[in-house]
Amino acid sequence: MGRPHRIRYVERFPDFTYFKPQSDTFKKGFEVILTIAEFEAMRLKHHQRKTQTECAELMNISQPTFSRILDLAHKKITEALIHGKAIRIAGGTIGIKKIFLGYGCLKCMNEWEDRQASEINKKSVACPACKSKNLYLLKKEIYQQEF
Ligand SMILES: [Zn+2]
Repeated sequence: MGRPHRIRYVERFPDFTYFKPQSDTFKKGFEVILTIAEFEAMRLKHHQRKTQTECAELMNISQPTFSRILDLAHKKITEALIHGKAIRIAGGTIGIKKIFLGYGCLKCMNEWEDRQASEINKKSVACPACKSKNLYLLKKEIYQQEF
């Protein structure tokens, strides 16, 4: 058995996950599947213009692995462009980095999410569980695993 796969981190899911050539002869299911990690590799390298080292670090993988993923992404897209295949972005075990923003209650230890949470807004907020105003601002990075 090989080493277990390290979780590959991505910032978020792509907004568009299906691309199809404009052709009357296109057959449904004629497609290449780009994993979300492969999409993320291209996004970081070619859109965010980060170095390979930065990309590998952000995705929690080694540089050779990053390079391999990027190469695979290029090959798949090239194949789609040449043969008129659709591109579907889906799959792979990935972790999504999310910022949890909210408050914590010092009285009852309740924690809740609030996207408008800030030191200023805190003054007008009370704990939904015990109504205490003795709160602290809570900001943490959480990792959610997706398949
Ligand atoms: Zn409370």
